Amino acid sequence: MTAANDQRLALPGFVNAHSHAFQRALRGRVERKSVLHAEDDFWSWRTTMYQDAARLGVDDVAALAAWAYSDMLRAGFVAVGEFHYLHHDVGARALPKPLLSLAHAAAAEKVGIKLVLLECAYLRGGFERSLVEAQRRFVFPNAAAFLTHVDAVRAAVPAGTRVGVAVHSVRAVPRAAIVEVAAYARREGLVLHAHACEQPREVEECKKEYGCSPVALLEACGALGPRATLVHATHADADDVRRLAATGAAVCITPSTERNLGDGLGPVAELFAAGVPVCLGSDSHARIDVADELRSLEDHERLRQRRRNVLVPAGGALHQALLPAGTTNGRRALGLDDDAGDRVGVAMPIEGRAEPATALDAWLVGGSSADVRDVDVAGVATVRGGALVRADLAAIEDAAVQVLRRLQRP
Ligand SMILES: [Zn+2]
Repeated sequence: MTAANDQRLALPGFVNAHSHAFQRALRGRVERKSVLHAEDDFWSWRTTMYQDAARLGVDDVAALAAWAYSDMLRAGFVAVGEFHYLHHDVGARALPKPLLSLAHAAAAEKVGIKLVLLECAYLRGGFERSLVEAQRRFVFPNAAAFLTHVDAVRAAVPAGTRVGVAVHSVRAVPRAAIVEVAAYARREGLVLHAHACEQPREVEECKKEYGCSPVALLEACGALGPRATLVHATHADADDVRRLAATGAAVCITPSTERNLGDGLGPVAELFAAGVPVCLGSDSHARIDVADELRSLEDHERLRQRRRNVLVPAGGALHQALLPAGTTNGRRALGLDDDAGDRVGVAMPIEGRAEPATALDAWLVGGSSADVRDVDVAGVATVRGGALVRADLAAIEDAAVQVLRRLQRP
């Protein structure tokens, strides 16, 4: 952290370790209550998400990804991990090539953000649940067919796009297939991500089916380790935290999405104390704001524990606790070893003009993505004065508006 003479706070590039770009289309449309739902929750939100997912063609997905990625870049994210499970075309028709993966790669290339495509295995509707119609776009018949798809994606993506693999969840991928996907990731040296413990129901169903928690199941399948990242871990217990720490796995928290979906508050302080690397994702993109995601890690712990500076090391300051989650831990989770030339310039908070040592903490507590002025990715200027340099933002936003108008028609 340095306070530059031009009244900019010079920060490293931030990493968004968990994204579903198409879910950006849900923002605002899921904030009303249907007369059919006495109570709204994650599962009723998922119904609307599935309705969108069933209707988006390749060009629509490309438009939404360009919109989401341009907002990420302007917020200070230099890299994104796209947890990608929209594998087939509308109507679950097979595509001649992995066009939906390539659509994300093209969108990232257009705006200038680094992309790690986390190709996601999705094999069944859930524990004792058959597939609903919308899920047919996500599904491969078995692990072998999925891994053939991953090979095709790795062969087809442009040189700048990295590929990792993901297990959607222990509800969507049966045990034997998790073992196969984990073995592939190990053999190929790829990162492996999985949603886990986002909802109490998932934990209960896993215990009913397998007699153990999702974290214990993933460990038994060989899916935990230094290249593994669990997304959410909201309802992980003390034994799960110990397993994560012992195997070197990371956890990705998605605070604004978990808050929006009413998921609950995860054991973040326990993960920090156990030495589990915690990173961040904007996930459903109800909000794309680096400062907000980072401060929410600490703010949620304050509300949970009714204390202050919960994650802050003794004798230290807030940024020492939070900055690794937005930078080094995110790069580790995505297998990005190089941050040369990644740089974010933020408008200097008033506090920083008075005393540079407090500038970053002031921004983390009270700043937002609107303060991000300049972003360089691998030495290339991608944002200047808050505006995209390499792409036409107005055209990207116009294309997104067309998709949103169509989704809003019944
Ligand atoms: Zn997710």
